[in-house]
Amino acid sequence: MNILLLGSGGREHALAWKMAKSHHCDKLFIAPGNAGTAQFGSNVNIQVTDFAAIKGLCLEEKINMLVVGPEEPLVKGVYDFFQQDEQLRHITVVAPSAEAAQLEGSKAFSKKFMQRHNIPTAGYAEFTSENFEDGNRYISQHRLPVVLKADGLAAGKGVVIAASHEEALQVFEEMIINKQFGDASSKVVIEEFLQGIEVSVFVLTDGEVYQVIGHAKDYKRIGEGDTGLNTGGMGCVSPVPFMDQAFMQKVEERIIKPTINGLAKEKLNYHGFVFFGLMNVNGEPFVIEYNCRMGDPETEVVMPLLQTDIVGLFAAMDNGTLADANIEFYPQSCATVMAVSGGYPGEYKKGLAISGLENAQAEDSVIFHAGTKQNGETVVTNGGRVIAVTSYGNNISEAVAKSKKVLEKISFEGMNYRKDIGYEFS
Ligand code: ATP
Repeated sequence: MNILLLGSGGREHALAWKMAKSHHCDKLFIAPGNAGTAQFGSNVNIQVTDFAAIKGLCLEEKINMLVVGPEEPLVKGVYDFFQQDEQLRHITVVAPSAEAAQLEGSKAFSKKFMQRHNIPTAGYAEFTSENFEDGNRYISQHRLPVVLKADGLAAGKGVVIAASHEEALQVFEEMIINKQFGDASSKVVIEEFLQGIEVSVFVLTDGEVYQVIGHAKDYKRIGEGDTGLNTGGMGCVSPVPFMDQAFMQKVEERIIKPTINGLAKEKLNYHGFVFFGLMNVNGEPFVIEYNCRMGDPETEVVMPLLQTDIVGLFAAMDNGTLADANIEFYPQSCATVMAVSGGYPGEYKKGLAISGLENAQAEDSVIFHAGTKQNGETVVTNGGRVIAVTSYGNNISEAVAKSKKVLEKISFEGMNYRKDIGYEFS
């Protein structure tokens, strides 16, 4: 079948790499893609929310399956767009409806959903400009630290963990009154701070049944020892030693099953990935957030560890046989280490030549491109996170060491990467 993948990051390179291995995959198109995805299919210069152009491409190239990488097209209703169009309806779309994508697109929606289905999460309240004074009182009496979240999508910047009431009140006013994130912060969720270790679990669901396809722990801070500013993710490891059978059983019973049953009960149309962002609080899992897509860089370890054909799983999800699918994993550990632009997550330059990519290829390692672009003969930087190097190993330390060895052969001006990914597990 012919497949169109939307997106342009490391996640999409890892998905393209995995899908291209499937005997179900005839032609693969990636819109817009990056220099890495071009190795597995044809990059097409169409933006992920340009639904009219996406339709044109689907008809022209006789696309049978649409796989959506990032969240924006989901929240903007790409699934519904395909369902409502007679010429596109036959295409398998790996995505939730816009209504269901509110699990990611609205923190207030997801908190209410968790409350309705008794899913463990931090206690919370929500406020708008209408009850702003109530919000101030609520914050003043709240235990510290207190977490403030803009309701809508804010490019990962809409969550503040405030250490003092003064800071929290200031952030609250900035979000609600000064509309810091526009409409996205017209509603604010105030919630308890959960102390623990953050991990994520990934499932594929048709809205009624599910299969767990992997889990991971990522490293969000720019600096070694988890210090400095938050980033989109500096690296990732899987499987996570403490996410053993006992922990995963708690996650399935208390979180995954009630979530999928909740989707079915509320008739939320969902055919795609669910990313459960969890906090492990002394061995007990709580939901921090839902995402309606795979994570980046989590995909760069989850796809390499998944042995089962992912395109076969998408097809099974579409034809009602997902429950019968046999999910198999490779027995090794995987780690990915992200090389980022100098200055990231602040200002950084683009268009810098990347050298050493060819010589860096190594057995047991895969180089996934994130923010890269082909510029004539040269691959150049095109984003903050530039390249993720994933390696297999007998354990996490061995996998990380292999990735670092590959990264030593790659260079671009200002290149930076964390040398301590997976440090707790060495
Ligand atoms: P992302 O950039 O991952 O999409 P987001 O903007 O959707 O994030 P959340 O994931 O809800 O927002 O929160 C961002 C980060 O803040 C989390 O990854 C977690 O580290 C921290 N966080 C959020 N809620 C809590 C909480 N209740 N207790 C402790 N930490 C929290």
